[in-house]
Amino acid sequence: MRRAQLLGACVLLALAFRPAHAQIAAPIVLNVDASNVTQGIVHVRETLPVEPGPLTLYFPKWIPGEHGPTGRIENLVDLRVTAGRTVVPWRRDTLDLYAFHIDVPSGTTTLEVAFDQIRYGRNGERLGTSDKIAIIGWNDLVLYPAGVPVAKIEVRPTITLPAGWDYATALSQERREGAAIEFAPTTLEMLVDSTLDAGQFSRKIPLVSGDGWTSELDLFADDPAALDVSDATVTKYKRLVREALALYGARHWRSYRFLVTLSDVIGFHGLEHHEESDDGASERYLIDDDALQAGADLLPHEFNHSWNGKYRRPADLTTPDYQRPMQTDLLWVYEGMTQYYGQVLAFRSGLEDAKYVPDVYALLAASLDTQPGRLTRPLLDTAVSAPFLYEAGGAYGSLRRGVDFYPEGALLWLDVDTIIRAGTNGRRSLDDMARAFFGGHNTGPIVVPYTRDDVIAALNAVYPYDWARFFRERVDEVQPHPPLDALTRAGWRLVYKDEPSAFERLRDGRDNAVPARYTLGISLSSSGMISDVLVGSPGAKAGLAPGMRIVAVNGRAFSRDVFEGAIKAAKGSTAPIDLLVENAGYFRDYPVEYHDGPRYPRLERIPGTKDLLTAITRPRTATR
Ligand SMILES: [Zn+2]
Repeated sequence: MRRAQLLGACVLLALAFRPAHAQIAAPIVLNVDASNVTQGIVHVRETLPVEPGPLTLYFPKWIPGEHGPTGRIENLVDLRVTAGRTVVPWRRDTLDLYAFHIDVPSGTTTLEVAFDQIRYGRNGERLGTSDKIAIIGWNDLVLYPAGVPVAKIEVRPTITLPAGWDYATALSQERREGAAIEFAPTTLEMLVDSTLDAGQFSRKIPLVSGDGWTSELDLFADDPAALDVSDATVTKYKRLVREALALYGARHWRSYRFLVTLSDVIGFHGLEHHEESDDGASERYLIDDDALQAGADLLPHEFNHSWNGKYRRPADLTTPDYQRPMQTDLLWVYEGMTQYYGQVLAFRSGLEDAKYVPDVYALLAASLDTQPGRLTRPLLDTAVSAPFLYEAGGAYGSLRRGVDFYPEGALLWLDVDTIIRAGTNGRRSLDDMARAFFGGHNTGPIVVPYTRDDVIAALNAVYPYDWARFFRERVDEVQPHPPLDALTRAGWRLVYKDEPSAFERLRDGRDNAVPARYTLGISLSSSGMISDVLVGSPGAKAGLAPGMRIVAVNGRAFSRDVFEGAIKAAKGSTAPIDLLVENAGYFRDYPVEYHDGPRYPRLERIPGTKDLLTAITRPRTATR
């Protein structure tokens, strides 16, 4: 049903695409009143130049970087259209619910459109808002005329912020009077590409600059203490910019801003743009080294997208407006290669401690190697299905598979990198392809689309190989195992030990997770909640299911220590591990047959081989 509906919309839009006409001769004036944003409502007032007659206005549906129809149409409320003093009725399209039809009265040259944005999600959670911070995504705050590519629609945006707040965005400010800011006219495409972060407590930290360009951290925090970032950490972000420029050799931004919200209310997220990224982390992310280590690749990942994703973009993700459906089949390049380089750049810049290199790849490989869903669903299908896989929950996620083009993409591109390095005796690497394909010469924020054939040709130019077959086998076809060859070629092998790696210990501690995936085959929180069960695992055979909660283990109240103690004690014994489990209000014993003891994924060096993991993650620039 969903697919049929999209197809219908696609045909409708193809008809609606006509050359630009007079209705957008002048810029749309977009006034956003976010002065009461902490109340969870933002007011929008637009003045559109129009011609009399039928007009269709769109609310953005397919949001760049979100890879799905994620526009929150349900949060557009209180829509009022007027021409002078005349109220003009609107009618929602019955097939495309993101389209509004209006009959512009004769003699009308400008239309006033006003609406409100509700900033709450389906479960009552606040969207991009805390008491001290707001993330303003312009696509939530604009209606635009159908029939014109968004790159051709000019907008003159203004915003009013809460008194005393500061802001950052890639837009250029023309005027500021107190809380009211006016920006220079821009295109709708660049407006949506310029998320604005604002807040009461902020700090701007210059990073690296050059001839006519700058880069900076723009931090917004729920508490001023979170802004007290050490010089040592700032130095690592400076190195991140240098490492990315050393990798790609050119940039496609004029200046770059990392907009970072430090908030436990808003939480962890990242959205890429050409000249900025909107990065969200925990409040203490930049002042507590453990917090940074557990997710150090956030800013490197989003920064990498400026090259892969924004400048070079899969052709079928490059749409002329926000209504035409995007096709996500090449996300194993867009996101997969970015996952690889985001991690690599985190290590090269020192943001992630080099001692964690083997641990990170061990966890990646092990989790992908225990996905029952991979026996029927190829990697390609996780990319094609991205629009619904992002929204899908964790229950039986290992059977469904998730957005595996990220983690498996990281291993896939390590595979490619090690093939090139091994085949050229270290003279060439994936970096050479990245530099040629995503670097080139300096440009402003432009889009150059690519196809799968373009990627294959670029790899062949660096190292001739049957890349077409390689991707056919590893991406298109079902593979029972992830590309573990990548690790072997890098000089390492995946093993299981009875002690967790330092990185796993750190990450589980921060995620409130208890490791049980490689023993009982379940995903478990520190409160005993089961979020996933691997089909065929000891846990599944015992009858455990997502949503159940382990209350006691062998008669003793559940805790991480009690659980781990029971796993150890069961080794070599014939007695089952007895779990007392709550399932939707009922309590019952679940005996689990498991006797192999603790198992934690680790990497082990293969003696006598070259260590390519260390070579790949070593800084390219001089560290200082
Ligand atoms: Zn990404």
